[in-house]
Parts: sequence; structure tokens; C-alpha cells
Amino acid sequence: MKTLDLLLEKLYNTNNLTREELLYLLENLDQVHTEKLFEYARKTRERYYGNKVYMRGLIEFSNICRMNCLYCGIRRDNKKVQRYRLSHREILECCREGYALGYRTFVLQSGEDPWYTVERLTDIITYIKSMFPDVAVTLSAGERPEEEYRAFFEAGADRYLLRHETASRSLYESLHPGASFDNRRNCLYILKKIGYQVGAGFMVGLPGQTKEDLVEDLLFLKELEPHMIGIGPFIPHKETPLGSEKGGTVEDTLVMLALTRLLVPDCLLPATTAMGTLHPEGRELALMAGANVVMPNLSPTWARPKYELYQDKICTGDEAAHCRGCIERRINSVGMVVDMGRGDHCNFEHTA
Ligand code: SAH
Repeated sequence: MKTLDLLLEKLYNTNNLTREELLYLLENLDQVHTEKLFEYARKTRERYYGNKVYMRGLIEFSNICRMNCLYCGIRRDNKKVQRYRLSHREILECCREGYALGYRTFVLQSGEDPWYTVERLTDIITYIKSMFPDVAVTLSAGERPEEEYRAFFEAGADRYLLRHETASRSLYESLHPGASFDNRRNCLYILKKIGYQVGAGFMVGLPGQTKEDLVEDLLFLKELEPHMIGIGPFIPHKETPLGSEKGGTVEDTLVMLALTRLLVPDCLLPATTAMGTLHPEGRELALMAGANVVMPNLSPTWARPKYELYQDKICTGDEAAHCRGCIERRINSVGMVVDMGRGDHCNFEHTA
């Protein structure tokens, strides 16, 4: 057998490869072996989760951000964004609508907005959990001190998403002025220690990102073993310093999704909106490369265009109300089925 076949077999059978082997794969994958990789990723996903796709309702509750990430459309220095914050009532209204549509996970995402103090956010979490005791609440509100993460957890938050963005220290530092590479990673370890189901993840095709950097992302995920892993292509946004850079590709992102599925076989892996933005069937392709989560938008229609992390983000227009049916058709088109349950990680024992 040729080297590529051997490496893929090893990856499929042991869920592990060395740094050198991963780099060799990334540098030499051809079309035939890419198909083989996707097939192994699908089989692995099926072994752990069957053909189910878990649905999360995404509520983008504030686009106000104190950070200045070079790639992000809602960065502090983008003065063209109309900033908004959802009130407690508006957030609960999104949950009520989502609950009626059948959602049992809500993902509350925002910029790093200091208005949402630990008191305000714990209040919101407590309300949601008391009104909808059978839902999982996922927070994605950036870096916070350990005691705040603990307070959210005690208020009932079940999961926390905090992409590591890139595992290359130098790339991270060049993209995040004033932020700390070590603090971001440390937050992930703290979240895990507290007991959250934790989501990490990264962007593919960042300006200056090398294949070695992408291998570091995979090795970091293998070490951290998060429950969820969000991977999407970098897409330039014109009102950012990276506005005229090239973005990531669907093909490269699919390879990273499949490798991630094989290295962390039991993870929950979303087919991201960024994939759907780059390609009309981007999310379907992601499902075919090992993904098993979709996160339809539940934000109020008026807020959606304002939460523009990258250009031409889909599902922000009038058609937004139809998300549920549209996504279900897409999922069925690749032979998978929608699961509206909480969609916990397969090793997670839910005891409420
Ligand atoms: N403030 C939160 C949420 C960030 S927005 C936090 O710090 O975690 C959610 C994700 O969108 C980010 O983690 C980033 O990976 C992604 N994102 C931001 N800008 C992007 C862009 N231009 N292209 C692709 N993904 C982007």
C-alpha cells in the first residue's frame, strides 16, 4: 500500500497521527484520498452518533464588542456597525419562539460586551432555565474570569463555546491586538474543569496561516479533547483590516473537518454558517465530511444583518423565518435526520 493509504488507515483505526504524519497528509492529499478521508470521517461519525444532526438555536444577543480582532466584522473599531443589545425580554422571546419550533438547545452568543455583567447574564440564564427546564443553555460570550464562568455554570449554563481561533501563537498575537494567547487557551481548560461541555475551534485560511499552523490546531484539539469543535473558513469583511485578503476555501475546511472527526471521534462538529455562506451546499458538504450539528439562527430578524461577523452571511434576510424547513431539507438530502433533543455529547450524563 502507498503511504497515503497507510496513513488514512492508521488515522481511522487509532484516531491518532504524529505531527509529521498530519503534515504529510495535508501536503499530499489528492482527490482520491480526500474522498477516502471523508468516507472514514462519515463512518466514524456514524459509529458515535448515527445519522442524527443536532439542532441548536442561535441567539446573537449583542454585537457590542470591546475586542478588536482583525478579521471580525463586529470588532470595536468598525464604526459602521449599528450596535445593538437584546434585553432580557427580547432574549426570552427568542427562546419562547425557538422552544415552540422544537429547539432544546439555545446558544447565546455575543461580542465581549461588558454591559452583560455577571449579574445580568446569570439572571438571563436563570430565567431561561426556569421557564424551559428541559433545554440546554450554551454561552458564547468570550473570555471572562473563572469566578464568572463558575457563576454562569451554577445558574444553569450547560455548555460554553470559545474557539481557540488558531493554535499558532504568532498568528494569534498578530490577529488579536491586546489579547493573550495563553489566556484564551487557559479559559478553555478552566471551562472544562468547571464541568461545562466545552467548544473550541478555529478558522481555516487566515492570512499567513500555514499547513504547519493547521496541524497545530489539530494537535491542540487532540490534547484538549473538547466536546464540541467549531471550524469554518475565514471570510473577509470589508470594514476590517483584512478586508482585501483572500479567504479560506470550502475544500480546505472540509479536509480539516474530516481530520478533526477522526482525531476527536466523539466530538460534536457543526456544519457552520460560514460554510453555507461560501458555497450553496457548504453545510451539506460539511455533513458529508463528518459534521453532525447545525445552528439555525433564532435572533430577531431586525438584528441579524447587524451581527455580520463576515461579509454576505446567509440567513439574515426576510427568508429567515423559514430556516427550520430549509435546513431540514438540506439535512435529509444527505441521508441524515434532524434530532431536536438537547444533543449532549455522547459521554455526557445528564442528571437534571
Ligand atoms: N465573542 C465571542 C464570539 C465570537 S464570534 C468569542 O470571543 O468567542 C464567533 C466566531 O466567529 C469567532 O470565534 C470566529 O472564529 C468567527 N469569526 C469571526 N469573524 C470571522 C470571519 N471574518 N470569518 C469567519 N469566521 C469569523
